[in-house]
Amino acid sequence: MRNKIIKNARRIVIKIGTGVLTASKTTEKFGINKFRLDAFVNQIIGLIDQGREVIIITSGAVGIGCNTLGFNEKPDAIPERQAAAAVGQIQLMHMYQEAFHNLERKGHRYPVAQLLLTQDLVDNRIQYLNARNTIFKLLEKKIIPIINENDTVSVEEIRFGDNDNLSAIVAHLVEADLALNLSTVGGLLDNDGRVIPEVEVITDEIKSFVKKGYSKFGTGGMSSKLSAAEKIVAAGGAMIIANGEKDKIIRNIFFSEEENEGTMFFPRKRKLSTKRRWIAYTKSSRGEITVDRGAAAALIKKGTSLLPIGVSAVHGKFKAGDMVKVVNEKSSEIARGLVNYSAFEIKKIKGKKSSEITKILGEENTRYEEVIHRDNLVLTKRG
Ligand code: GLU
Repeated sequence: MRNKIIKNARRIVIKIGTGVLTASKTTEKFGINKFRLDAFVNQIIGLIDQGREVIIITSGAVGIGCNTLGFNEKPDAIPERQAAAAVGQIQLMHMYQEAFHNLERKGHRYPVAQLLLTQDLVDNRIQYLNARNTIFKLLEKKIIPIINENDTVSVEEIRFGDNDNLSAIVAHLVEADLALNLSTVGGLLDNDGRVIPEVEVITDEIKSFVKKGYSKFGTGGMSSKLSAAEKIVAAGGAMIIANGEKDKIIRNIFFSEEENEGTMFFPRKRKLSTKRRWIAYTKSSRGEITVDRGAAAALIKKGTSLLPIGVSAVHGKFKAGDMVKVVNEKSSEIARGLVNYSAFEIKKIKGKKSSEITKILGEENTRYEEVIHRDNLVLTKRG
Protein backbone atom coordinates (compact mmCIF):
# COMPACT_ATOMS: atom_id res chain seq x y z
CA MET A 1 0.00 0.00 0.00
CA ARG A 2 2.74 2.45 1.01
CA ASN A 3 4.78 1.92 -2.14
CA LYS A 4 1.70 2.12 -4.31
CA ILE A 5 0.64 5.44 -2.80
CA ILE A 6 4.12 6.87 -3.26
CA LYS A 7 4.42 5.57 -6.81
CA ASN A 8 1.03 6.96 -7.82
CA ALA A 9 1.39 10.34 -6.11
CA ARG A 10 1.21 12.79 -8.96
CA ARG A 11 0.69 16.00 -7.03
CA ILE A 12 2.80 16.40 -3.94
CA VAL A 13 2.97 19.09 -1.27
CA ILE A 14 6.34 19.22 0.47
CA LYS A 15 6.58 21.18 3.72
CA ILE A 16 10.05 22.15 4.84
CA GLY A 17 10.32 23.20 8.48
CA THR A 18 12.41 25.99 9.98
CA GLY A 19 14.53 23.55 11.97
CA VAL A 20 15.85 21.78 8.90
CA LEU A 21 16.51 24.94 6.91
CA THR A 22 18.27 27.17 9.37
CA ALA A 23 21.92 26.78 10.19
CA SER A 24 24.42 28.26 12.58
CA LYS A 25 24.98 31.90 11.73
CA THR A 26 28.66 31.70 11.23
CA THR A 27 28.73 29.10 8.52
CA GLU A 28 25.91 29.96 6.20
CA LYS A 29 24.51 32.87 4.28
CA PHE A 30 21.52 34.42 6.08
CA GLY A 31 21.58 31.57 8.56
CA ILE A 32 20.12 29.24 5.93
CA ASN A 33 21.62 25.82 5.55
CA LYS A 34 22.28 26.35 1.87
CA PHE A 35 23.83 22.96 1.43
CA ARG A 36 20.65 21.28 2.61
CA LEU A 37 18.37 23.59 0.64
CA ASP A 38 20.32 22.81 -2.54
CA ALA A 39 20.03 19.11 -1.80
CA PHE A 40 16.24 19.39 -1.32
CA VAL A 41 15.90 21.34 -4.53
CA ASN A 42 17.96 18.79 -6.41
CA GLN A 43 15.76 15.95 -5.17
CA ILE A 44 12.58 17.91 -5.88
CA ILE A 45 13.74 18.44 -9.44
CA GLY A 46 14.12 14.66 -9.64
CA LEU A 47 10.40 14.36 -8.84
CA ILE A 48 9.41 17.07 -11.30
CA ASP A 49 11.44 15.42 -14.03
CA GLN A 50 9.40 12.26 -13.45
CA GLY A 51 6.29 14.25 -14.38
CA ARG A 52 5.09 14.89 -10.83
CA GLU A 53 3.87 18.27 -9.64
CA VAL A 54 5.45 19.66 -6.49
CA ILE A 55 4.22 22.53 -4.35
CA ILE A 56 6.63 23.67 -1.63
CA ILE A 57 5.49 25.03 1.73
CA THR A 58 8.46 26.66 3.34
CA SER A 59 8.98 27.93 6.84
CA GLY A 60 12.02 29.83 7.95
CA ALA A 61 11.17 33.48 7.24
CA VAL A 62 10.96 34.51 10.87
CA GLY A 63 14.00 32.46 11.91
CA ILE A 64 16.17 33.80 9.12
CA GLY A 65 14.99 37.36 9.68
CA CYS A 66 15.82 37.07 13.39
CA ASN A 67 19.25 35.89 12.48
CA THR A 68 19.87 38.81 10.16
CA LEU A 69 18.53 41.33 12.65
CA GLY A 70 20.68 39.87 15.41
CA PHE A 71 17.84 38.57 17.62
CA ASN A 72 18.92 35.60 19.67
CA GLU A 73 15.44 34.17 19.81
CA LYS A 74 12.01 34.77 18.33
CA PRO A 75 10.84 38.10 19.76
CA ASP A 76 7.53 38.09 21.64
CA ALA A 77 6.53 41.51 20.33
CA ILE A 78 4.41 41.09 17.21
CA PRO A 79 5.82 44.05 15.24
CA GLU A 80 9.36 42.76 15.75
CA ARG A 81 8.41 39.28 14.67
CA GLN A 82 6.65 40.64 11.63
CA ALA A 83 9.63 42.81 10.77
CA ALA A 84 11.84 39.73 11.04
CA ALA A 85 9.47 37.83 8.72
CA ALA A 86 9.60 40.66 6.18
CA VAL A 87 13.39 40.56 6.20
CA GLY A 88 13.62 36.78 6.21
CA GLN A 89 11.01 35.99 3.55
CA ILE A 90 12.84 37.76 0.76
CA GLN A 91 16.11 36.07 1.69
CA LEU A 92 14.40 32.72 1.84
CA MET A 93 12.89 33.13 -1.62
CA HIS A 94 16.16 34.40 -2.98
CA MET A 95 17.84 31.20 -1.82
CA TYR A 96 15.19 28.99 -3.42
CA GLN A 97 15.32 30.93 -6.64
CA GLU A 98 19.09 30.66 -6.75
CA ALA A 99 19.04 26.95 -5.93
CA PHE A 100 16.51 26.14 -8.69
CA HIS A 101 18.33 28.41 -11.12
CA ASN A 102 21.71 26.83 -10.45
CA LEU A 103 20.26 23.42 -11.12
CA GLU A 104 18.91 24.38 -14.51
CA ARG A 105 19.74 21.76 -17.05
CA LYS A 106 20.08 22.13 -20.76
CA GLY A 107 16.68 23.09 -22.11
CA HIS A 108 15.08 22.78 -18.68
CA ARG A 109 14.29 25.79 -16.56
CA TYR A 110 12.73 25.67 -13.13
CA PRO A 111 11.28 29.10 -12.36
CA VAL A 112 9.81 29.60 -8.91
CA ALA A 113 6.86 31.68 -7.70
CA GLN A 114 5.99 32.99 -4.26
CA LEU A 115 2.52 32.84 -2.68
CA LEU A 116 1.87 34.29 0.76
CA LEU A 117 -1.43 33.23 2.29
CA THR A 118 -3.48 34.05 5.38
CA GLN A 119 -6.48 32.25 6.91
CA ASP A 120 -8.92 35.08 6.14
CA LEU A 121 -7.98 34.83 2.49
CA VAL A 122 -8.81 31.13 2.23
CA ASP A 123 -11.97 31.63 4.33
CA ASN A 124 -13.31 33.58 1.41
CA ARG A 125 -14.51 31.16 -1.28
CA ILE A 126 -13.75 33.47 -4.20
CA GLN A 127 -10.23 34.25 -3.06
CA TYR A 128 -9.71 30.58 -2.27
CA LEU A 129 -10.67 29.55 -5.78
CA ASN A 130 -8.53 32.32 -7.15
CA ALA A 131 -5.47 31.04 -5.28
CA ARG A 132 -6.27 27.56 -6.57
CA ASN A 133 -6.44 28.76 -10.17
CA THR A 134 -3.17 30.61 -9.77
CA ILE A 135 -1.38 27.54 -8.44
CA PHE A 136 -2.78 25.38 -11.23
CA LYS A 137 -1.64 27.91 -13.81
CA LEU A 138 1.86 27.93 -12.30
CA LEU A 139 1.99 24.13 -12.33
CA GLU A 140 0.77 24.04 -15.92
CA LYS A 141 3.61 26.38 -16.86
CA LYS A 142 6.11 24.21 -14.95
CA ILE A 143 6.73 26.94 -12.38
CA ILE A 144 7.27 25.75 -8.81
CA PRO A 145 4.88 27.39 -6.32
CA ILE A 146 6.59 28.16 -3.01
CA ILE A 147 4.16 29.05 -0.26
CA ASN A 148 4.44 30.51 3.23
CA GLU A 149 2.10 32.25 5.59
CA ASN A 150 2.05 36.01 5.12
CA ASP A 151 3.63 36.46 8.55
CA THR A 152 4.26 40.15 8.02
CA VAL A 153 0.58 41.03 8.08
CA SER A 154 -1.06 38.11 9.84
CA VAL A 155 -2.41 38.74 13.29
CA GLU A 156 -3.94 36.17 15.63
CA GLU A 157 -7.44 36.22 14.09
CA ILE A 158 -6.23 35.47 10.58
CA ARG A 159 -3.32 33.15 11.32
CA PHE A 160 -2.99 29.55 10.21
CA GLY A 161 -1.02 29.08 13.38
CA ASP A 162 1.74 27.00 11.90
CA ASN A 163 2.94 25.73 8.57
CA ASP A 164 1.81 22.17 9.32
CA ASN A 165 -1.74 23.46 9.20
CA LEU A 166 -0.94 25.59 6.16
CA SER A 167 0.41 22.51 4.38
CA ALA A 168 -2.86 20.65 5.07
CA ILE A 169 -4.87 23.58 3.74
CA VAL A 170 -2.74 23.76 0.61
CA ALA A 171 -2.98 19.97 0.19
CA HIS A 172 -6.77 20.41 0.09
CA LEU A 173 -6.55 23.47 -2.13
CA VAL A 174 -4.64 21.60 -4.83
CA GLU A 175 -6.13 18.14 -4.03
CA ALA A 176 -2.67 16.71 -3.40
CA ASP A 177 -2.22 12.95 -3.43
CA LEU A 178 0.53 13.14 -0.87
CA ALA A 179 1.88 15.68 1.63
CA LEU A 180 5.43 15.23 2.81
CA ASN A 181 6.35 16.96 6.06
CA LEU A 182 10.09 17.36 6.56
CA SER A 183 11.12 18.35 10.06
CA THR A 184 13.72 17.53 12.65
CA VAL A 185 11.80 14.47 13.84
CA GLY A 186 11.94 11.13 12.12
CA GLY A 187 8.19 10.55 12.34
CA LEU A 188 5.63 9.71 14.98
CA LEU A 189 7.30 7.87 17.85
CA ASP A 190 5.71 5.13 19.96
CA ASN A 191 6.12 4.77 23.73
CA ASP A 192 9.54 3.21 23.28
CA GLY A 193 10.73 6.04 21.09
CA ARG A 194 10.56 4.00 17.87
CA VAL A 195 9.21 5.50 14.67
CA ILE A 196 5.78 4.10 13.77
CA PRO A 197 6.16 3.35 10.05
CA GLU A 198 2.49 3.26 9.07
CA VAL A 199 -0.73 4.64 10.51
CA GLU A 200 -3.85 3.24 8.91
CA VAL A 201 -6.32 5.03 11.16
CA ILE A 202 -5.57 7.90 13.56
CA THR A 203 -6.95 6.27 16.69
CA ASP A 204 -6.95 7.61 20.25
CA GLU A 205 -3.92 5.42 20.94
CA ILE A 206 -2.03 7.09 18.11
CA LYS A 207 -3.00 10.49 19.51
CA SER A 208 -1.83 9.43 22.96
CA PHE A 209 1.74 9.06 21.69
CA VAL A 210 1.75 12.78 21.11
CA LYS A 211 0.13 13.74 24.40
CA LYS A 212 2.71 11.80 26.32
CA GLY A 213 5.35 13.94 24.71
CA TYR A 214 7.63 11.32 23.25
CA SER A 215 8.66 13.61 20.48
CA LYS A 216 11.97 15.37 20.94
CA PHE A 217 10.56 18.20 18.88
CA GLY A 218 8.15 19.04 21.70
CA THR A 219 4.50 18.12 21.92
CA GLY A 220 3.32 21.23 20.09
CA GLY A 221 5.39 20.27 17.06
CA MET A 222 4.08 16.75 16.73
CA SER A 223 0.51 17.56 17.71
CA SER A 224 0.20 20.12 14.93
CA LYS A 225 1.65 17.56 12.51
CA LEU A 226 -0.90 15.01 13.64
CA SER A 227 -3.83 17.41 13.21
CA ALA A 228 -2.52 18.20 9.74
CA ALA A 229 -2.46 14.45 9.04
CA GLU A 230 -6.04 14.09 10.31
CA LYS A 231 -7.24 16.81 7.96
CA ILE A 232 -5.38 15.42 4.97
CA VAL A 233 -6.35 11.76 5.31
CA ALA A 234 -9.99 12.63 5.99
CA ALA A 235 -10.33 13.89 2.44
CA GLY A 236 -8.46 11.08 0.71
CA GLY A 237 -4.84 12.26 0.74
CA ALA A 238 -1.80 10.61 2.32
CA MET A 239 0.86 12.20 4.52
CA ILE A 240 4.42 11.29 5.44
CA ILE A 241 6.32 12.83 8.35
CA ALA A 242 10.04 12.29 7.89
CA ASN A 243 13.38 13.53 9.07
CA GLY A 244 14.50 16.42 6.90
CA GLU A 245 17.97 16.34 8.39
CA LYS A 246 18.64 12.95 6.89
CA ASP A 247 20.71 12.85 3.76
CA LYS A 248 18.76 12.24 0.52
CA ILE A 249 15.51 11.88 2.42
CA ILE A 250 13.22 12.79 -0.51
CA ARG A 251 15.09 10.45 -2.82
CA ASN A 252 14.88 7.62 -0.28
CA ILE A 253 11.14 8.06 0.02
CA PHE A 254 10.36 8.24 -3.66
CA PHE A 255 13.06 6.18 -5.27
CA SER A 256 13.88 3.41 -2.84
CA GLU A 257 11.21 0.78 -2.27
CA GLU A 258 13.02 -0.95 0.57
CA GLU A 259 13.54 1.95 2.90
CA ASN A 260 10.51 2.98 4.91
CA GLU A 261 11.36 6.50 5.95
CA GLY A 262 9.30 8.23 8.64
CA THR A 263 5.61 7.67 9.30
CA MET A 264 3.03 7.33 6.55
CA PHE A 265 -0.60 8.13 7.31
CA PHE A 266 -2.87 6.27 4.93
CA PRO A 267 -5.72 8.10 3.22
CA ARG A 268 -9.30 7.31 4.08
CA LYS A 269 -11.16 5.73 1.19
CA ARG A 270 -13.58 8.55 0.55
CA LYS A 271 -12.37 11.34 -1.67
CA LEU A 272 -14.01 14.62 -0.79
CA SER A 273 -14.82 17.18 -3.45
CA THR A 274 -12.90 20.45 -3.27
CA LYS A 275 -15.99 22.26 -2.02
CA ARG A 276 -16.45 19.80 0.83
CA ARG A 277 -12.75 19.98 1.73
CA TRP A 278 -13.03 23.73 1.87
CA ILE A 279 -16.12 23.62 4.08
CA ALA A 280 -14.80 21.05 6.54
CA TYR A 281 -11.05 21.56 6.61
CA THR A 282 -10.24 25.09 5.49
CA LYS A 283 -12.90 27.61 6.42
CA SER A 284 -12.73 28.72 10.07
CA SER A 285 -15.55 27.67 12.32
CA ARG A 286 -17.66 30.48 13.76
CA GLY A 287 -19.89 28.55 16.15
CA GLU A 288 -21.59 25.36 17.11
CA ILE A 289 -25.04 23.86 16.67
CA THR A 290 -26.18 21.05 18.96
CA VAL A 291 -28.61 18.57 17.42
CA ASP A 292 -30.87 16.01 19.10
CA ARG A 293 -30.46 12.26 18.76
CA GLY A 294 -32.94 11.87 15.93
CA ALA A 295 -31.30 14.58 13.86
CA ALA A 296 -27.80 13.21 14.55
CA ALA A 297 -28.88 9.76 13.35
CA ALA A 298 -30.55 11.20 10.24
CA LEU A 299 -27.45 13.22 9.34
CA ILE A 300 -25.09 10.28 9.82
CA LYS A 301 -27.17 7.37 8.53
CA LYS A 302 -29.37 8.97 5.92
CA GLY A 303 -27.25 11.90 4.79
CA THR A 304 -30.13 14.34 5.24
CA SER A 305 -30.07 18.13 5.57
CA LEU A 306 -30.25 19.67 9.03
CA LEU A 307 -33.73 21.05 9.68
CA PRO A 308 -34.63 23.52 12.44
CA ILE A 309 -36.64 20.86 14.26
CA GLY A 310 -33.49 18.85 15.02
CA VAL A 311 -31.57 21.79 16.54
CA SER A 312 -31.49 21.93 20.33
CA ALA A 313 -28.88 24.62 21.03
CA VAL A 314 -26.80 27.30 19.30
CA HIS A 315 -23.44 28.69 20.41
CA GLY A 316 -21.42 31.54 19.00
CA LYS A 317 -22.21 34.59 16.91
CA PHE A 318 -22.36 33.62 13.28
CA LYS A 319 -24.12 34.87 10.20
CA ALA A 320 -25.72 33.11 7.25
CA GLY A 321 -23.00 31.54 5.09
CA ASP A 322 -20.58 30.94 7.96
CA MET A 323 -19.17 27.52 8.78
CA VAL A 324 -20.24 25.93 12.05
CA LYS A 325 -19.60 22.64 13.78
CA VAL A 326 -22.55 20.33 14.34
CA VAL A 327 -22.30 18.42 17.62
CA ASN A 328 -24.46 15.74 19.23
CA GLU A 329 -25.97 15.90 22.70
CA LYS A 330 -22.68 14.66 24.16
CA SER A 331 -20.86 17.57 22.51
CA SER A 332 -18.99 15.31 20.08
CA GLU A 333 -18.57 16.76 16.64
CA ILE A 334 -20.41 14.91 13.90
CA ALA A 335 -20.37 17.33 10.98
CA ARG A 336 -19.49 20.76 9.70
CA GLY A 337 -21.49 22.89 7.36
CA LEU A 338 -22.47 26.28 5.99
CA VAL A 339 -25.53 27.71 7.69
CA ASN A 340 -28.47 29.23 5.86
CA TYR A 341 -29.43 31.36 8.86
CA SER A 342 -27.61 33.43 11.48
CA ALA A 343 -27.15 32.29 15.10
CA PHE A 344 -29.74 34.86 16.12
CA GLU A 345 -32.29 33.45 13.65
CA ILE A 346 -31.56 29.79 14.45
CA LYS A 347 -32.12 30.47 18.15
CA LYS A 348 -35.65 31.55 17.22
CA ILE A 349 -36.50 28.64 14.90
CA LYS A 350 -34.75 25.79 16.74
CA GLY A 351 -37.02 22.88 17.58
CA LYS A 352 -39.67 24.18 15.15
CA LYS A 353 -41.02 22.73 11.91
CA SER A 354 -39.71 24.27 8.68
CA SER A 355 -43.28 25.28 7.82
CA GLU A 356 -43.20 27.61 10.82
CA ILE A 357 -40.10 29.56 9.72
CA THR A 358 -42.06 32.26 7.91
CA LYS A 359 -44.39 32.80 10.85
CA ILE A 360 -41.42 33.24 13.18
CA LEU A 361 -38.89 35.12 11.05
CA GLY A 362 -41.20 36.85 8.59
CA GLU A 363 -41.53 36.46 4.82
CA GLU A 364 -38.47 38.57 4.01
CA ASN A 365 -36.17 36.50 6.21
CA THR A 366 -37.38 33.08 5.11
CA ARG A 367 -34.77 31.79 2.74
CA TYR A 368 -34.57 28.03 3.04
CA GLU A 369 -36.27 25.09 4.71
CA GLU A 370 -32.99 23.81 6.08
CA VAL A 371 -30.58 25.22 8.64
CA ILE A 372 -27.79 23.48 6.71
CA HIS A 373 -28.45 21.93 3.32
CA ARG A 374 -26.91 18.50 2.79
CA ASP A 375 -24.86 19.82 -0.15
CA ASN A 376 -23.13 22.15 2.28
CA LEU A 377 -22.71 19.60 5.06
CA VAL A 378 -19.74 17.28 5.59
CA LEU A 379 -19.76 14.44 8.11
CA THR A 380 -16.55 14.65 10.12
CA LYS A 381 -17.10 11.89 12.65
CA ARG A 382 -14.35 9.31 12.34
CA GLY A 383 -15.07 5.89 10.89
N1 GLU B 1 5.64 30.98 8.68
C1 GLU B 1 6.71 30.85 9.64
C2 GLU B 1 8.04 31.28 9.03
O1 GLU B 1 8.22 31.26 7.87
C3 GLU B 1 6.87 29.45 10.15
C4 GLU B 1 5.70 28.83 10.85
C5 GLU B 1 5.98 27.38 11.22
O2 GLU B 1 7.15 26.98 11.24
O3 GLU B 1 5.07 26.62 11.46
O4 GLU B 1 8.93 31.64 9.74
